[in-house]
Parts: sequence; C-alpha cells; structure tokens
Amino acid sequence: MKIFKGIMLLLVMMLIVVGCQKVENPPEEVTPDDDEVPFVRSASKVVEDEKTKSTITSQESYQIGTYITISIYDDEEVPSDVFDEIFYTIYDFEKMMSKNIEQTNVDQINDNAGVAPVEVPEALYDLIVLSLRYGDMSNGLFDVSIGPVVNLWGIGSDDAAIPSDEDLKAAMEKVDYRKIELDPDKKTVYLPEEGMVMDLGAVAKGYIADEIKKVIQNNGFESAIINLGGNVLTVGLKPNSDHWSVGVRDPQSEMGGLVGILNLEDNAIVSSGVYERFFIEDNVRYHHLINPMTGYPEQSNLLSISIVTAASVDGDALSTSAFLMSFEKGFDFIESIEGVDALFILDDGSIYMTSGIESRFMLTNNKYEIKTK
Ligand code: FAD
Ligand code: MG
Repeated sequence: MKIFKGIMLLLVMMLIVVGCQKVENPPEEVTPDDDEVPFVRSASKVVEDEKTKSTITSQESYQIGTYITISIYDDEEVPSDVFDEIFYTIYDFEKMMSKNIEQTNVDQINDNAGVAPVEVPEALYDLIVLSLRYGDMSNGLFDVSIGPVVNLWGIGSDDAAIPSDEDLKAAMEKVDYRKIELDPDKKTVYLPEEGMVMDLGAVAKGYIADEIKKVIQNNGFESAIINLGGNVLTVGLKPNSDHWSVGVRDPQSEMGGLVGILNLEDNAIVSSGVYERFFIEDNVRYHHLINPMTGYPEQSNLLSISIVTAASVDGDALSTSAFLMSFEKGFDFIESIEGVDALFILDDGSIYMTSGIESRFMLTNNKYEIKTK
C-alpha cells in the first residue's frame, strides 16, 4: 500500500517538475523497504530523447519524508550504481540531520538539550552556522530552534491540532536560535535548555540537493535535474544547450497543477507554501510555516514563494524566511540580495516576480495574472 501510494505520488511529482517531459509509465520495479535497501526506490527508467539527442536515465526514491526524482542526461544509459551512490548519500545525510529518527546527530543534540554539548560532523556544524546566519538575516523569523512548536502543532502528522494557549506558551519559551552555543574548534553544538529542539526541515533538503549535484558531477555527468520533493536543482544545461523547463506549482490546485514554467540553467528553484503540509479547521488553513514571534502558521495574502538561486541550500533557507516576512517585506528582502530572485503567488491570483526572472517565466494558467510592483 505504502509503495503503491509512493508510485502514484512519484508520478504526480515528476509531472510537476519536469514540466515538458512526458512520463508514460510508472517505475517498473520498486524495491521493498526491507533490511537490504533501507528506503523505497525504483528501477531505472530510460528514455531516448529526440530533442536533446541524449539518453535520459531516471530513478526515484522515497526518503527524508519526501519523493525524490533524479534524471541524468548522457550519451547512454547511466549505470545504476551512480544512483546507488546518490540515494545512499541522501541516506547518510538523513542519519545525520533528521530529528524524526533516533540516534541521528540532530537527535543527539536534542536529547542532550540542557545536558551537554554534542560533537557533530563538520557538514552538519557548517549547516547549523549557516542556519543561524539566516536567522539573523531574517530578524529571527528563520529559526532552527522552532522544533518544540513544530512538534506541538504536528502539522503533516495524523495528530495535527491547534494547541492550547498554555502548551503553545510553554513551547515558545524553548524557541530562540540565539541561545544555541557553538564551539568552532571542537565542532560542538549545545542547546542550553532542556526541551529545546533543533529542526533543520527548512534548510536540510536544500543542502542535500547541492551535495547530490556534486555526486553527479564527480561521476562525470554534466546534465541532470534533481528534485527533492519540490526542491529542484538543475545541473548545467540540457545536452543540446536548451534550458531546463521547471513547472511552478499552483498553490491552489489539489492535484499538483501548474501556474507556469520557469526556464533555468544551473539553478536551484525552491518553494515554500501553504499547500505542502496543512490541515483546515473552521475554514482556516493551518500550514507548516510557523512564525516564531506568534507560534502560529503565518497568515497573510501570500500562498507560495519560489526562490531561484545558484545554491539550493540558500534557496531553501530564503524561501522559508521570505514566506514568513509576507509579501511586501519578502519581496524587498529578496530584491536586495544579489543573484537571488523570487516568484510570489498571492491569494487574489496575482503573481509578482523580482527583476531577474521576469523574462524567464511563462504563465500557463489563466486563473493567474502577472503584475508588477
Ligand atoms: P520549507 O519551507 O523549506 O520548511 C518548512 C519546515 O521548516 C517545517 O515543516 C518545519 O519543519 C520547519 N519550520 C517551520 N517554521 C520554521 C521557521 N520559522 N524557521 C525555521 N524552520 C521552520 N518528513 C516526514 O514526514 N517524515 C520524515 O521522516 C522526515 N524526515 C526528514 C529528514 C530530513 C533530514 C529532512 C531535511 C526532512 C525530513 N522530513 C520528514 C520533512 C520535513 O519534516 C519537512 O516537512 C520538510 O523538510 C519541509 O520542507 P519544505 O521544503 O516543504 O518546506
Ligand atoms: Mg525552506
């Protein structure tokens, strides 16, 4: 059942991301989630692509709580062991960065809150340093110590519910990334109060996508598209020098419809929105992007934001940060950062873009209208 659901969702994901590339059949074989392969993963799908005069080899997996698709363009089929390396790289980072699995490095940091500093691998240490910097850049809206509040709401789980004021107040007292203590020599991380919880969900997928890009390039491939549950990262151009066409999700469509297509080259496009994980009660949509000043999902006229950057890790941190700033401030914030662009979708159907991507976006959905600020 889990695997069947996985295949259906994988198909939807692929249609969203690859936009113009048609997917005709589900993966032919899915390995079971057993002891031998510790995640659900497909066999290779191989397509001879007339337009780019290349062979596209794709595999899919379900890891880090999301659906992953990797497509590599080359002269011939890409050996499956390249995908092994990619999926096991993701698996290794999951064992480092997940707060949902016991004994990951992040779990150890959380278990030792108020007890002792924890030594962590350099990659994790550097990601936490970067996350704290984004905390400062966003005036505290981006806060990787948001874990107690995220856990209390449980959005995306079967237990999601509006918390009591009392519980929320208690959880909020444990949130403040500025209290996190780092030792750059010993590479230790310390949450100084019991009950503090680190949650890298807003930035780790972006980081992992960048690492996958390195694995693909180190294996000698120059042309690929990586999709980690909506965090898309393109490698180079297509073999015929065409740009990549990446669909931008319609935040109001239940079935993964698109608002339009972005033409990209060696870019990350990372989205945050009200449609990813949410529940609805009394006509209010409670989604997973929590404003650390209120403890509540941020309610504004902004439905989604898609960031275009060179590195996916920056796109991930910025998509969450700018979403929480809401439209006016988020737009000016992104416009002020060199080399970063964004597309904002508002609840009245308007789409606003920062200057660098206006010429790269094609609207395909007549429910929406492009406006200028
Ligand atoms: P983004 O906008 O990038 O991030 C939203 C997420 O960031 C929220 O879900 C929350 O976790 C966190 N967040 C909320 N408010 C703030 C804030 N103010 N500042 C900073 N962060 C905030 N999901 C599962 O269901 N099961 C799993 O086992 C699982 N394992 C995971 C393991 C890893 C290593 C990672 C990186 C993610 C995992 N996830 C898992 C998914 C995770 O829980 C989030 O849903 C996901 O990362 C959200 O990504 P996004 O791009 O949709 O949203
Ligand atoms: Mg993010």
